[in-house]
Amino acid sequence: MKYEGDIIRPPSEASSLLLQVTVGCSHNKCSFCPAYKEKKFRIKSSDEILEDILEAGRWRSIDKVFLCDGDALIIPQERLVEILGLIQTHIKGVKRVGTYANAKSILRKTAEQLAQLREFGLGIVYLGIETGNDELLRKIRKGVTAAQMVEAGRRVKDAGIPLSVTVILGLGGGDQSTEHVNDTASILTDMDPEYASALTLMLIPGTPLYAEYESGKFTLPDKFHLLRELACIIEKSDFSSCYFTSNHASNYLPIKARLPSEKEKTVTTIYNTIRKNDVRYLRPEYMRGF
Ligand code: SF4
Repeated sequence: MKYEGDIIRPPSEASSLLLQVTVGCSHNKCSFCPAYKEKKFRIKSSDEILEDILEAGRWRSIDKVFLCDGDALIIPQERLVEILGLIQTHIKGVKRVGTYANAKSILRKTAEQLAQLREFGLGIVYLGIETGNDELLRKIRKGVTAAQMVEAGRRVKDAGIPLSVTVILGLGGGDQSTEHVNDTASILTDMDPEYASALTLMLIPGTPLYAEYESGKFTLPDKFHLLRELACIIEKSDFSSCYFTSNHASNYLPIKARLPSEKEKTVTTIYNTIRKNDVRYLRPEYMRGF
């Protein structure tokens, strides 16, 4: 397999074949995100993609394929269907293909196009919501409103494709933590995804948000306040059936919960940790990563 630059994937795709079909992120403007800053966005050529698919086809059977990099749904429909078809034809045993997507690229697809992608094997879409607060979405340059994000999420779900979303603890800083928590719980409720994860903000040198932090315009809440945000988001969200995790390496406290059935137990666990007020119960700083 030929990869350009660092490859990023969700924790749940750890055992998947990582097939790089795009390089970088088509948006690449979010102020907190260091992921693809060094990469100029492009869709890989058909020959490059086919070569990797044929190579994977010579291996043992592969359960899951994850399309990298940041946003494979930006690929024009005809080509994306062709890529999914080639995966099914040449790679043995594939049961699910997953991809990151941003709301703008989802909204460029019609309901029929998304349904076609599901028929060709697209089995999960990972969408970074980050926050449900419109002012924060504008500040972090996400490029979409909360309403557009909800519409994108619903469109994926209506097409029968499981939806996995992420939100970022701490994104409201010290000043807008309450708005961040309330509106994030609200967008999660409106979207009602099958999977949701919380990440914890890490300020990475070179990003615009890091510069704001350096200049004093942005303050990062302390570790226990970030845990309080996690507890409040879970408490205030209303899911019909969601697997909620905070097992990403950026988090101080990994949790896994079936919601709503394990809501009370999970919130109690988080508050118990907060009450201990002892960093030895949290993931140490040196073990965190974004
Ligand atoms: S957060 Fe997602 S959409 Fe925003 S720049 Fe990073 S990869 Fe692109």
